[in-house]
Amino acid sequence: NAVCEVDTHLSALELLYVCQAIETKQHRVREKKWGARTIDLDIITYGVQVIASKQLIVPHPEMMNRGFVLVPLAEIEPNFKVPVLGPIQALIDKLDISALIKL
Ligand code: ATP
Ligand code: CA
Ligand code: CA
Repeated sequence: NAVCEVDTHLSALELLYVCQAIETKQHRVREKKWGARTIDLDIITYGVQVIASKQLIVPHPEMMNRGFVLVPLAEIEPNFKVPVLGPIQALIDKLDISALIKL
């Protein structure tokens, strides 16, 4: 798992569509025997926006339960305050992340 930060002029929904287009493209590649594995691109946060629509929920509704999301996010933004949820480090402190392995 990996987290990246992007600057974009796209709206959150437009960004989701771009992510889904990339996933679709990657899925095709996966059909080759030794092709890349399926990828899953999720939007974790989008600025300070809070979104709860049929297609898109931001912040990602499972992010607070997933060390594999929170830990790499904290690596790039250690003082990040997640909209609604609060400081990233406090979220990590609530989880057992002992099984996480940094690659
Ligand atoms: P999870 O959401 O638990 O990580 P998943 O990533 O495996 O599960 P998908 O099948 O990839 O789930 O996505 C299902 C739908 O979730 C997408 O079609 C999309 O409309 C919706 N969705 C809602 N919020 C988000 C978000 N923040 N990022 C990406 N997709 C989202
Ligand atoms: Ca996912
Ligand atoms: Ca997804």
